[in-house]
Amino acid sequence: MSRNLELFERGKQSIPGGVNSPVRAFGSVGGTPRFVKKALGAHFWDADDKRYIDYIGSWGPAILGHAHPEVIAAVQQAAVGGLSFGAPTEAEIEIAEEIRKLLPSVELVRLVSSGTEATMSAIRLARGYTGRDAIIKFEGCYHGHSDSLLVKAGSGLLTFGNPSSGGVPADFTRHTLVLEYNNVEQLERTFAEIGNSIACVILEPIAGNMNLIKPSEAFVKALRALTEKHGSVLIYDEVMTGFRVGLGCAQGLHGIQPDLTTLGKVVGGGMPLAAFGGRADIMSCIAPLGNVYQAGTLSGNPVAVAAGLTTLRQIQRPGFYDELSASTRRLAMGLEAAARDAGVTMCADSVGGMFGLYFCEQVPASYAEVTASDRERFNRFFHAMLEEGVYLAPSAYEAGFVSIAHTDAIIDETIDAARRAFARV
Ligand code: PMP
Repeated sequence: MSRNLELFERGKQSIPGGVNSPVRAFGSVGGTPRFVKKALGAHFWDADDKRYIDYIGSWGPAILGHAHPEVIAAVQQAAVGGLSFGAPTEAEIEIAEEIRKLLPSVELVRLVSSGTEATMSAIRLARGYTGRDAIIKFEGCYHGHSDSLLVKAGSGLLTFGNPSSGGVPADFTRHTLVLEYNNVEQLERTFAEIGNSIACVILEPIAGNMNLIKPSEAFVKALRALTEKHGSVLIYDEVMTGFRVGLGCAQGLHGIQPDLTTLGKVVGGGMPLAAFGGRADIMSCIAPLGNVYQAGTLSGNPVAVAAGLTTLRQIQRPGFYDELSASTRRLAMGLEAAARDAGVTMCADSVGGMFGLYFCEQVPASYAEVTASDRERFNRFFHAMLEEGVYLAPSAYEAGFVSIAHTDAIIDETIDAARRAFARV
């Protein structure tokens, strides 16, 4: 029996579904999850010592590749100095200064331990600042698992959402309106009707949780103009896109200054660290300055901060994002060409170190378009690639991630593997 299967069966005896986060269980693609033994650069090894080229990179954080020597050294050094204090440190100020330097929209920033905490806190803050309850999110965007965000659209334009998870009282999603990504007209109509009661709009400024979906320029501009006009807080959830699509994040690419920004993944360099920040007048409503409560025993954890700070310094090397974007584009275009040659309907897109593969004719622009793609074919392709030693996201509706450790040779090896895989799917 494969050791992965053995571990999966054993894990299920002690852990729900054998995993600590659902997508790891391969529920959408079927088969046996790979248990990671170790990882280095662009690769990881599973419990059977099989090597994979890794295209999820911990779902985003591993932008430098796994176990980058400088990050590991910083973590080791920090750990020796103590693991957690519950009192402030200088390194927390340093990482806050680094974030402010890279993101002009962020005047004050607070550290937390997960993306879920960052978005949950940003929304509480937006509500506290505006004194309003209603929030807008978009279908297909994921912002972590806090109650008021686990919501699916109601039946009419102005009907608020219903829980998309068990255990969430309908009362908790009563204030969340779910709109369609890239639908400018619907957004305008909504703001015309109830704009003055909207506390905030939260979005993935480039969506990565419904595969990769880019916003139109018109959508981005409308979001900024309408929230400004109606006194609503615009929250760019850059947990995934932050320092992933470019040094200035998605807001830099869009030329937009959001009111609040949430960060996670890359900012923590693979350790549990996330952040939310933005306009000083809004951020000043947070305790201890204001009456919006937010706290954390492990917030600003010294080992996590060391990993994050070292990562933020590494990505500022001149040419880093040109190189990363070129590698990612090489992969996306190479896979698209391999599919075309094999007569498989598939297209691809990329931005910075993030890519999308879509088993349909055209790059989708909304959740409805993404979910119309050929999921069964993706699943066959996923397993064929796994056999070839390439680990893609185990779901047709997730984006993929390339690191700076993915050399052209590794990308080309992936494309060769895909040529063989396409011939089989
Ligand atoms: N926001 C976005 C855009 C995300 O992609 C994620 C995680 N995939 C989250 C929030 C939640 O972050 P975490 O898993 O660290 O709680």
